[in-house]
Amino acid sequence: MDTLLDRLKSEIGEANVLTGSAAAEQAFSPWTQLGTPLAIVRPGSTAQVAAVLRAAGDAGAAVVPWGGRTGLVDGARAEGAIALSLERMAAVESVDPGQSTMTVQAGCVLEAACRAAEDAGLFLPLDFGARGSATIGGAISTNAGGNRVLRYGMARDMVLGLEAVLADGTVLTTLNSLIKNNAGYDLKQLFIGSEGTLGVVTRAVLRLRPKPASQQTALLGVERFDALPRLLRRLEAELDGALSAFEVMWPQFYDLVTTPPAAGRPILPPVHGYYVLVETLGADPAADGARFEAALAGVLEDGLAADVVIAQSGAERARMWALRDDVAQTARNGPIQTFDVSLPIHEMEPYLTAVRAMLETGIPRATLTIFGHLGDGNLHLIVGNPDADHRETVEAIIYGPLAARHGSVSAEHGIGLQKRAWLGYSRSPEEIALMQLLKRAMDPRGTLNPGKVLPPGPKVAGAAP
Ligand code: ZN
Repeated sequence: MDTLLDRLKSEIGEANVLTGSAAAEQAFSPWTQLGTPLAIVRPGSTAQVAAVLRAAGDAGAAVVPWGGRTGLVDGARAEGAIALSLERMAAVESVDPGQSTMTVQAGCVLEAACRAAEDAGLFLPLDFGARGSATIGGAISTNAGGNRVLRYGMARDMVLGLEAVLADGTVLTTLNSLIKNNAGYDLKQLFIGSEGTLGVVTRAVLRLRPKPASQQTALLGVERFDALPRLLRRLEAELDGALSAFEVMWPQFYDLVTTPPAAGRPILPPVHGYYVLVETLGADPAADGARFEAALAGVLEDGLAADVVIAQSGAERARMWALRDDVAQTARNGPIQTFDVSLPIHEMEPYLTAVRAMLETGIPRATLTIFGHLGDGNLHLIVGNPDADHRETVEAIIYGPLAARHGSVSAEHGIGLQKRAWLGYSRSPEEIALMQLLKRAMDPRGTLNPGKVLPPGPKVAGAAP
């Protein structure tokens, strides 16, 4: 291994190859288990990323790409591997107002990319809780979702072009900035959402949108689940495509984020069945406000919502989002297991009833806290299990009923290490076989983020353990 580390040092500079205590210090994340990497390498250019992959490939060493390390499925676990951090490739290379695109390096933090777009009078709609540390490369590799998918789609929908480095060091530069380009296979899709198992994303061309001139936010109290889908469709129709968020908090979640030690306090009295944060982004501040108020008055009148508070200032809006974003409070029921499932809205209530009943029988001391991007059919379930055992039983309870209800074991967090045993609950054997074929074709030595996403399949010759 010394020869490998020596080669890496000569390729990218000694200061950018961290080992021992320097590496151990960096290999920590409150969100995910990173393991103890053999070394952390910090290439400063695409050419250097290629050099690292070539050197590791020659030595048969595993390479795990690192972005902001805020993933929740242990996709960045790098035990005994070379952790390839993109932190030095953090530049916004250009913003093109004419094309409404930006070219960004993979290590650029999401929030910084959003700010650069805004400085140019444009808007990068990707937004989620880890915005201050997650990177563009990580968001693309995991096809991140978040709070505005309802209107703008997931990370995949914002990527026009991509540069990625293959396991053998080949640089694939597809920095397309065209909205329409049907010239052959859309190769960038291989790297979006494949969690660094098929290549390392190094740069991207992102599609930007007009910067919204108005933003309307409200918190609604709703009594019955069956009102939620009707409320969603009604607001979508009446707000004419401006609805950008429809976030639902269940009472247990609302209680946690509005009581000490949480900083938040109730904005609506804690008496409702569901709390819905809705937001619109529009182009006409005067008219948008009036239309938003009229739509909400209508849903109150028709009994779809029982109560509503409209944010009257930026501070009030921030207080509403702070409740939704304070997911860390769910750790108060710890130790916790975090789930991210997807299913058709009409299946949600029977699914949750079944899950609750199985938890009550199987693990009576467990708690269940629920919130999610209901407009996208995406629920986050947090199971608190004071006994910290039966982890697989809890997983079986959450994932088991999904297949029959046409759901997915991962809506937006990805598969990583945590969910690979459950991939077969959401993908057919034929789909998984094709995924394994792609993996073998693109990474024949099995050195790129090995063991992630795919359930252990047929042995790959020379694969790292
Ligand atoms: Zn989410």
